[in-house]
Amino acid sequence: MPAQTGPSVAFREVTKRYSARVTAVDAVSLEIAAGSFVALVGASGSGKSTLLKMVNRLIEPSAGSVAIDGRPVADDPSHLIRRRIGYVFQNVGLFPHMSVGENVAIGLRLTGETGAAARVADLLALVELPPEFARRMPAELSGGQAQRVGVARALATEPRLMLMDEPFGALDPVTRDGLGQAIRTLHDRLGLTTILVTHDMAEALLLADRVLVMDGGRIAADAAPHALLAGEGGPVADALVAVPRTQAHRLAELERGA
Ligand code: ADP
Ligand code: MG
Repeated sequence: MPAQTGPSVAFREVTKRYSARVTAVDAVSLEIAAGSFVALVGASGSGKSTLLKMVNRLIEPSAGSVAIDGRPVADDPSHLIRRRIGYVFQNVGLFPHMSVGENVAIGLRLTGETGAAARVADLLALVELPPEFARRMPAELSGGQAQRVGVARALATEPRLMLMDEPFGALDPVTRDGLGQAIRTLHDRLGLTTILVTHDMAEALLLADRVLVMDGGRIAADAAPHALLAGEGGPVADALVAVPRTQAHRLAELERGA
């Protein structure tokens, strides 16, 4: 078991208005328990990314506050907040002219750490990539490998909280599934708190301890996967759960030869 768990994250009446007409996040209040793996699911435009980015202050709320382990993120300089929080997003944005090792070491170098090679190898091992990958260039990686490097880079500063915004978005289903499981394993091994944004309800149900469903800037459902599968999430959640459930039933029928 990990020595410590990641922090709790609390949203208090958090609102983000981009304009008089667009309220992307609408008075959201919720508490994410220390050490939990939470999935944030919802249709495109429902406010998932906006909510996530208010945790690491890439976006500032119009009203309300976000606190990590009880301390408002607004109390600290945003660059310090971001160093303490891992952030992985779709098409992770590796620097193309730098090797994998240099990309991963960026987080280390900012703190003035030297002799980073061994640490880079450790970080690559965490995401199940061999140490030789440090010498490769980003263009020599598959999509899944590049996302793994992005996760390794996010882990370089030893964050206790990981924010992931559709990190598997551009990947094929097999790679996606493998990386999802790798991320859940990392979460458990390192004792992180993880918030994963995804539009894929099946992925959310399979990976997370708790699923938050966003709709129009609000939390439409907040439940454990088994409760959502039992129909306890309400109509918006039910509609999202119906997709993988119907597919699973259809596959089971096909397997039986029906
Ligand atoms: P999601 O991640 O669920 O797709 P977003 O948080 O990106 O949703 O967007 C929520 C809403 O806010 C959408 O209506 C979107 O068009 C709007 N929005 C997002 N970013 C901006 C921005 N920078 N300026 C104006 N509107 C934005
Ligand atoms: Mg988004």
